[in-house]
Amino acid sequence: MIRRQFLLGLAAARFNPLRSAPRFRQDPFMLGIASGDPLPDSVVLWTRLAGQELGNASHEVEWIIAEDEGLKKIVKRGKEVASPQFAHSVHVDPRGLKPGRWYWYQFRCGGVESPIGRTRTAPAVNSQDPLRFAFASCQNYEHGYFTAYEHMAQEDLHLVVHLGDYIYEGGPSKGRPRQHNSPEIQSLTDYRNRYALYRTDPDLRRAHERFPFIVTWDDHEVDNNYAGDKDESGTPRDQFLERRANAYQSYYEPMPLRRSSLPRGTSLDLYRSFDFGSTARFHVLDTRQYRSDQPCGDGRKPQCAEALSAEQTMLGDSQEKWLMESMRSSKQTWNVLANQVMFAKMDFKPGEGAEYAMDQWSGYEVPRQRICRFFEEAKPSNPIILTGDIHSSWVSNIKADFNRPESKNVGVEFVGTSITSGGDGLELPIAEANFKKKNPHLQYFLAKRGYVSCTVNANEWRSDYRIVPVVTKPGAVIETRAKFRVAAGANQVERT
Ligand code: FE
Ligand code: CA
Repeated sequence: MIRRQFLLGLAAARFNPLRSAPRFRQDPFMLGIASGDPLPDSVVLWTRLAGQELGNASHEVEWIIAEDEGLKKIVKRGKEVASPQFAHSVHVDPRGLKPGRWYWYQFRCGGVESPIGRTRTAPAVNSQDPLRFAFASCQNYEHGYFTAYEHMAQEDLHLVVHLGDYIYEGGPSKGRPRQHNSPEIQSLTDYRNRYALYRTDPDLRRAHERFPFIVTWDDHEVDNNYAGDKDESGTPRDQFLERRANAYQSYYEPMPLRRSSLPRGTSLDLYRSFDFGSTARFHVLDTRQYRSDQPCGDGRKPQCAEALSAEQTMLGDSQEKWLMESMRSSKQTWNVLANQVMFAKMDFKPGEGAEYAMDQWSGYEVPRQRICRFFEEAKPSNPIILTGDIHSSWVSNIKADFNRPESKNVGVEFVGTSITSGGDGLELPIAEANFKKKNPHLQYFLAKRGYVSCTVNANEWRSDYRIVPVVTKPGAVIETRAKFRVAAGANQVERT
């Protein structure tokens, strides 16, 4: 008998009685709750039931959303069917909420109540409210503990943005602090179980309970460095697309996504935008589903002709058009690109010669130049690019033309680091000096773990790099290693 069932009598008044539901032997809400994709009048509420008792049947889940932590002032309630087709997940989209305020929500099924989650709607259209949010990426379960989320959960934030590599697809490896519990994932069941494993982490669940998330994916939600319909190892297209469909569906299921992101065949629409009053518009990108293959055989190397080809695409035509239109029509102070792989041109080779990462925008030179030119000519207000993927922190000014160092700064890129991927990390002052020497637009580099906490208003953008010393042991304390500021209108970063 779980603790919350004892509270049933007290809680009964808040819920309508259920018709039929299984009697759970374990907590059906062990995979947690979440919320996300905030709009001024709605925010998606999510849970997924777990337990053998669910069988192959659909079950009704009740939900409530209230204006107070004690769930006294309930503003909406309803029922949603958790069906085995979507792994007994539910995605509630309660409309008619008030803008820019906190709400609390809870689910119930079979007489068992979920934890109470806290979430927040986006501010009203013309609101000048400042925005406080954190962004994170790359949380390999095997590489360490998600301690960074424990600290993030204690921050005073409105929102978390996740830039991908929420799970990793590989099998277990020895000598790690934690282990994956299945071989490399391929089937729908495999992927579902992998998300379930990651959600057993209490710090990750806690962050989801405290804040709405806006999520996008990178490669490891499917397979390392896949590009559109191609995987790394040359698997036949149809076979890979079947795997991708499994991965995409199992991504929708555990994420607090709106029904507009329901998987359709082997595709899923993930690029979308969110407005936070007149302060910021987030353009959430998908740089995996539509991209052309990594050029020049992938890896780090000089840009071969293929990397410079006009045939290369990172976003695909439709998404690229949408992005530019979304920036053009934006009236917000800050235009934020929630991006996956490093945008700035970065020569990683110390000394003579040059090497660029072909999986990053450097493998897609022409599309990158189109965006840089758009920043320079169309002048969208204050472009800021947020990036994950590379398991280290990089802060760069975006150049109107990266091949002309003297060209104008037209925006700023903040590359966060990983939550755990790569393990504890290293202090690499010589590497930082070398990278800066080769890349004058680069302002900062660090190869430690953590996340980035940002405060944004009409006058300035602030990003604090929050760093944990270790992830291979639990309980690390957190420190702010570096602070950056972008003044509105400056289009370049300063360290503070
Ligand atoms: Fe990663
Ligand atoms: Ca990645």
